[in-house]
Amino acid sequence: MRIAEIYLGNLAHNIAQIKNNLRPGVKICAAVKADAYGHGAVCCAKTAVECGAEFLSVATVGEGIELRKAGITRPILVLSLCDASEMRALVKHELTPLAGDSEYVDLLEAAAKKFFASQKNSSNKNPSDNATRKFSVHLAVDTGMGRIGCLPHEAKDLAKKIAASQILSLGGICTHFASADETSATHRVSTQRQYEKFMLAINSIRAEKITTGIVHCSNSAALLDHPEWQFDMVRPGIILYGYCAGRITSRYLSKKGIQFEPKPVMAFVATVSAVRTLPKGAGISYGSTWKCERESKIAVLSIGYADGLLRRASSGLEVAINGKKYPVRGRICMDQCMAEIGMESDVKRYDRAVIFGPAESGALCTAQDLADAQGTIPYEILTSVSKRVKRIYLS
Ligand SMILES: *Cc1c(COP(=O)(O)O)cnc(C)c1O
Repeated sequence: MRIAEIYLGNLAHNIAQIKNNLRPGVKICAAVKADAYGHGAVCCAKTAVECGAEFLSVATVGEGIELRKAGITRPILVLSLCDASEMRALVKHELTPLAGDSEYVDLLEAAAKKFFASQKNSSNKNPSDNATRKFSVHLAVDTGMGRIGCLPHEAKDLAKKIAASQILSLGGICTHFASADETSATHRVSTQRQYEKFMLAINSIRAEKITTGIVHCSNSAALLDHPEWQFDMVRPGIILYGYCAGRITSRYLSKKGIQFEPKPVMAFVATVSAVRTLPKGAGISYGSTWKCERESKIAVLSIGYADGLLRRASSGLEVAINGKKYPVRGRICMDQCMAEIGMESDVKRYDRAVIFGPAESGALCTAQDLADAQGTIPYEILTSVSKRVKRIYLS
């Protein structure tokens, strides 16, 4: 068996730690995209809302609909651009898009107009309800991410267009930092430049007497490293799930007098499905890249790359069983892998083998440790945990 244990108490702890670092009145928009970074969107979103998150964010319309169907009524930002075929559902489920160009605003307006009209025709309710109803859009400004949004000098006209619409309303304005999780001088300068461009865009809109709505720009890294940029709302993601963003580590922050000690939320756990004694010379796994140098005891683990234990992690990976670390031997297979446990080991069938997680799960390493060993980031380790891994929620 392979499971992902989700310690919702740690998620609550992390949100409390974030709140401790927010200025008064700043809202939290909890990123629950990609199934809450692999942790399970509905449960994590509900916990985040209970802990005070006013907004949620997802990547796709489908992810937003999943939350609505689970009864979540908070505003939900859709951070990626939608296909034309998704726009009706976007409006119907009252998801909030980010818009960054005039054509996209037109598409949103047309979709909302059509949907509102269909509602009017199909209900006998007071038609004036519908007449005043508007569809909220947040204006995205590209200040240096090169992904979505208008350029800063285009923000004013786009804001005007949205604000003048009979159908749309300007609910907010935002940008996204490309390198807020880096600490080198050049990256800090470019992040500062992004902030300045964002301010220029905001001021150009305000100069037209247009209200911007909710102003937000900070991801996990920026909200901790630049508290002065929190504006009306912050958009934490990775720190909700217990990992620091890039180089904005707890140590780095504590040197700046900022207290932030997140706890990992997910434990990735397999069971020992068999314990075998193999003779000297026996090859382990595909390609026999590892062979027993002497008679060896091998634990077969029910977890593989199809579960999200990436094959490229094979060499050097260690798993924790009963509080001790054991090395994985040979290549990780699709559904299983093998660990060498030593001839004197007391490891037995159905023991827990913990790949990573918080200390209370029995883990001896975190997704950060795995990411460092594999040259990636905890985001990728967490979102790689696949669908067939059952999520079990613990308080
Ligand atoms: C994913 C995402 C976030 C959260 O990023 P973290 O680094 O996980 O805090 C915030 N804003 C946008 C636009 C995003 O795409």
